[in-house]
Amino acid sequence: MEILNDPSSSIYTETLEKQIIFINNRLNTINNRYLNDMCGLSGTKSMIANHLNKGPAQNLVQNFFKTNNICSNCNCKRGENNIRQLERAHCNRYSRLDLLVLALEDLYIDENTPIPCGKILNKFIEKHKLCPIYTLCNICHNKYDNHT
Ligand SMILES: [Zn+2]
Repeated sequence: MEILNDPSSSIYTETLEKQIIFINNRLNTINNRYLNDMCGLSGTKSMIANHLNKGPAQNLVQNFFKTNNICSNCNCKRGENNIRQLERAHCNRYSRLDLLVLALEDLYIDENTPIPCGKILNKFIEKHKLCPIYTLCNICHNKYDNHT
């Protein structure tokens, strides 16, 4: 499954190419409560990134990106070979927290200057132009996260 982490592999480049178009279109049309939330956050970069990581950023990714109905690795569908479900799998080169930190790098001024939460999350979605999200079945997803 190393191929999923190889930026020169065709699955990596093709997934990313489609994803960039998808992000541009969806950011223009989506109405999402996390992206609309303009409440300001202040503190260190890592405090803000950790605050957003588990709840808002995770829920936003679930809502923003869709899954395909076939696993990118084994090409199976739900119900085949004991597959329970198809899941979104972040390319392991970047974690969700890494992408939040990258987003903050672009917006951060200092510890006392609040940044609107929705602006950070918008930038965070943009940072997914660096990081393909694959559709994997629960079995491949488990292997991927434990062995790469
Ligand atoms: Zn699979």
